[in-house]
Amino acid sequence: MSLNDPKGNFKEQDAPRYEDTLQCMRCGFCLPTCPTYALTGRERSSPRGRVALARAVAEEKLEFTAAVKEEAFFCLDCRACTTACPSGVRAGEVMEVCRSQAHAFYPLGSAGKAFREFILQRMLPSPTLLESSMLPTRLYQRLGIQWLVRHSKVLKLGPDWMDKAEGMLPKLEKPLRPQLPDLVPAQGEKRGRVGFFLGCVMTLMYPSVSRNTVKVLSHQGFEVVTPKETKCCGAPHLSEGDRESARQLALFNLDLFLEQQVDYIVTDCAGCGAALKEYEELLEGRAEREKLARFRAKIRDISEFLGEVGLRTEGLKAVPTTVTYHEPCHLCHAQGISAQPRDILRQIPGVVLREMQEASWCCGSAATWGLKYTQESQQVLDRKLANLQATGAELLVTANPGCQLQLAWGVRRAGMPQEVLHIMELLGRATPG
Ligand code: SF4
Ligand code: SF4
Repeated sequence: MSLNDPKGNFKEQDAPRYEDTLQCMRCGFCLPTCPTYALTGRERSSPRGRVALARAVAEEKLEFTAAVKEEAFFCLDCRACTTACPSGVRAGEVMEVCRSQAHAFYPLGSAGKAFREFILQRMLPSPTLLESSMLPTRLYQRLGIQWLVRHSKVLKLGPDWMDKAEGMLPKLEKPLRPQLPDLVPAQGEKRGRVGFFLGCVMTLMYPSVSRNTVKVLSHQGFEVVTPKETKCCGAPHLSEGDRESARQLALFNLDLFLEQQVDYIVTDCAGCGAALKEYEELLEGRAEREKLARFRAKIRDISEFLGEVGLRTEGLKAVPTTVTYHEPCHLCHAQGISAQPRDILRQIPGVVLREMQEASWCCGSAATWGLKYTQESQQVLDRKLANLQATGAELLVTANPGCQLQLAWGVRRAGMPQEVLHIMELLGRATPG
């Protein structure tokens, strides 16, 4: 055990860094920004309380109790607290690391373990297996079974998460990955060559988003390379406390994209972008520093990228509509990207942007959090929907598939009229071709 970085009552492997638990000066600035503190009013469910728990475990004042485990998973990892914290305390990331500890201290039973390993270590790392796993769901929709299930309300008899998960399903198309060309040429004067990181949820649930992203990039003068071998970014693994599998995926994607000779690596998924930008930290000591720095320097979220290179607006068609923007936590808090999506929206001819209150407050999705804590997630979502309604906007735009699933479900369920779109779907409507 290092005296500078004591693990105390944590297990050695993947323990939070002690210094990350020391920075908190207990000022409380983070408290009003934390959704779980707003829900419970409980100190241990606040950023300050969570960091104090981790510090107490590191200092051997507390065992890794069931309460610590509970807080590790109850934290949304929305990172709103880090944006608000004057000391830069990363309570969300500390809790994310604690999830690995939770699995070490409280191992699942053999069936649960086998299921978790199948999803995280077999299915998610294999694009082909992932794609074929969606075939039964597509048939369920095509054959009208979904219609029967929804109208019979049979799912109301089961656990809440099942009813919600089914209700969130968008109409599935064929996965995008096999359909996207390996290389899409630049239109007009060529401005560069980008690698497109196609995320798992995008290819399976929202192929139209990424199809539009590629179309926009090409129309903006960029040659787009989409490596078909790309594996999951590792975000679900980090979220579920399987950091070792996340490292294996990161090592693969790192080499794959560095081979492509691209100027930038662009993603349209805020969750993927945040994970890719954290490879440097995740792979510390596991990959060459120079390679990690080169990779990190190329990663851009699509809005960040278009903001940096400048959006070519000539030739864009008018899309006359009023729009409000929901900021994904993993874009605004994890990556600090807040102004760029709004700048893009303002540049689309015909679009009028109406700001909503608390645009950067979480929508209550947070990977599987919204399914594990359905009641709490509904409360977080209700706050968002009230803010949406107050804008009177026709469209709700966001930039992350998890937010899009949750918001589209919430809007439908509440009988609200808004269409929920990814920002690239809207820019795609304005882009000719
Ligand atoms: S986490 Fe940051 S904002 Fe919150 S109490 Fe500690 S120092 Fe203050
Ligand atoms: S990451 Fe979000 S939920 Fe977790 S402590 Fe910070 S503000 Fe609260």
